[in-house]
Amino acid sequence: MRLRKTKSRSKKEILKEDPFCIYCGERSTTVDHMPPKKMFIRKWRLSGMEFGSCFRCNEGAAAADAVASFLARMGIHGGSEAIDDLINTMKAKAPAVLKEIVQSISGSQAIFGRANEYLYQPLRYGRLDGSAVRAHMSVFGARFGMALFRQLVRRPLCRDGVVYARWNLNCGILEEFLNGLPLAGTLEQGKHDASDQFEYQYNTDRKYIAASFARFQRGLYIFSIAADKPEYIEAIKRYPVIETDSNMPSARTAVRLQPSELCSRIDRMLADQASARAI
Ligand SMILES: [Zn+2]
Repeated sequence: MRLRKTKSRSKKEILKEDPFCIYCGERSTTVDHMPPKKMFIRKWRLSGMEFGSCFRCNEGAAAADAVASFLARMGIHGGSEAIDDLINTMKAKAPAVLKEIVQSISGSQAIFGRANEYLYQPLRYGRLDGSAVRAHMSVFGARFGMALFRQLVRRPLCRDGVVYARWNLNCGILEEFLNGLPLAGTLEQGKHDASDQFEYQYNTDRKYIAASFARFQRGLYIFSIAADKPEYIEAIKRYPVIETDSNMPSARTAVRLQPSELCSRIDRMLADQASARAI
């Protein structure tokens, strides 16, 4: 059983299992990796969590994937060529985000601190919760919540379901909250697992609801919950949409949307980028 679970599947097998896009319900033509390959050091991504997706949901979210990967990997040493690569992708696909990041960080004083286990050095801090970062992270967070629902419930979230995602940078979660998420997951392949770069704690009834708290590298944390049973939907609809939270030392925002709204979010995100490029 275990071998079967960790074996990588061909595109044909994945599209056979997901003939319809797990995000929007259109016919699947591509394989979507969630988390994306660029989230991992040297793009070395273990198997698991590959899904059938339409071209629009997959390619349209490439900018959101680049932004999330950059934010997750910002504090990691020894991967500067990869960071340069992500910056170049953002220059091309998410110029408004790059502008917000540069403005936020260049306005701050450099202070001596340690990133991970390395030497003290001048570091700059910025609050990355501007409108362009939020637009991209909303798309990424919602896609992650829907992908995890597909992974844990073994079917896509219904179009009238709801997904909620809250993302934090460089910030953990209350332990009592984690008690509600007793199970643990990551990507696995043979003897290897990716828990040093990506792991999540979760809870699910395997039928209608999947909740998780996921860590991406050392910089990005996402709480997500997706459900399509009426009473769960009602409960999730009461979860707050957070534009920014100035009480938090690090950036925290949250989005809540229905699967049918994801494509319009992607379109809006792409339109903002086009106007940022035109300036
Ligand atoms: Zn789609």
